[in-house]
Amino acid sequence: MPNKEMLLIPGPTPVVDEIYEALAAETWAHTDPRFVSVFANSLKLTKQLFNTDGEVFVIAGSGTLAMEMAVVNVLAPGEKLLVISQGYFGDRFVPLAQTHGIQVETLQAEWGQQVDPGAVADKLARESFKAVTLTHVDTSTGVVADLAALVPIIKRSGALLILDGVCAAAALDEDMQKEYGAPDYKIDLVLTGSQKAIGVPPGLAIVAFGPRALAAREARGLVGGYYVDIKNWLPIMENPGRYYATPPVNMIYAFNRGMEIVMKEDLPRRYRRHEALGKAVRAALSTYGMKPLASEQAAAPTLTCFLYPEGVDDLAFRRALAAKGVVIAGALASLAGKAFRIGHMGNVTGEMFSQAIRLMGETLTEMGHAVNSEAAVAKFREVYQF
Ligand SMILES: *Cc1c(COP(=O)(O)O)cnc(C)c1O
Repeated sequence: MPNKEMLLIPGPTPVVDEIYEALAAETWAHTDPRFVSVFANSLKLTKQLFNTDGEVFVIAGSGTLAMEMAVVNVLAPGEKLLVISQGYFGDRFVPLAQTHGIQVETLQAEWGQQVDPGAVADKLARESFKAVTLTHVDTSTGVVADLAALVPIIKRSGALLILDGVCAAAALDEDMQKEYGAPDYKIDLVLTGSQKAIGVPPGLAIVAFGPRALAAREARGLVGGYYVDIKNWLPIMENPGRYYATPPVNMIYAFNRGMEIVMKEDLPRRYRRHEALGKAVRAALSTYGMKPLASEQAAAPTLTCFLYPEGVDDLAFRRALAAKGVVIAGALASLAGKAFRIGHMGNVTGEMFSQAIRLMGETLTEMGHAVNSEAAVAKFREVYQF
């Protein structure tokens, strides 16, 4: 049992023993047929995760590389991108795209709120964009994007839809063949990293290109980057025995194992588990006077940003909790010091959260804010029927 701590930050998430074991296996040649079959299997499972009839790319890097691959392969310098932002990671697309000479406009929701679909519809009715980025779950705020409302609006405009699924893939449905109201209203591109809801250590950028996104790359000339150009990777993803740049062999072992765990749990069940876990964590910690930044309707199943009760010192609380073995994250930007973020995604269990909720209550009580940990744990168990 290598994990000595409960890593409940919004990624990396706790890694289960089977994945550590895969990671620690002997490093084979990247061209060894045994490795090639592991790599091929992980790609097959990734295609199933997104149910794409396009192509997936699994490459050494982090979620940010996946964001960059998504953007630069479909947008040429001078073309227009609309960034729909519900927080810090939504905003990240702005300088990223500007670096590549792309013209960016932004629609920003107030932190903690979902973007108004009416405002998106107005914007897209007035101007045309080659692509739109949307962050499925913004990790700074714990706000989930309303795909049912937004996908039809975006697709009606003819733009390509790039979905940042870094804090969502394998915890929320990102089916790329799902029709959102019309046969061609589908998500064109989804990207993620290995370390969040998939539950594998950090190190892989994962991007799925649907048919329209692949066609957009094909129609585009030279891409301003060598490692990020999917055309260079296509032959490898079709046949992982070919060489372009050395794949991170051990990370692929770990990722393959991680994807097997995800698919074995069964996607609809995994999505329901995250939904229930999010609800239960919010219900339990609310009994301590902690207040989720997002409303229940906008709250993500994968992580929550909680405002502290009056008078709780952020650093002191997180330090004392870490000393008990539970690691949570601070909040970003203007919320720093006033809120914390707790991840509830990936290969985590109800038992872990019962324990973490109890330890959070004990920490608060020791800091002079007496709360009832037993009642909070009971609340958690009552809501998390899983
Ligand atoms: C974590 C995260 C990223 C950045 O991923 P890195 O692996 O840190 O590069 C991007 N978008 C979202 C929504 C994230 O949660």
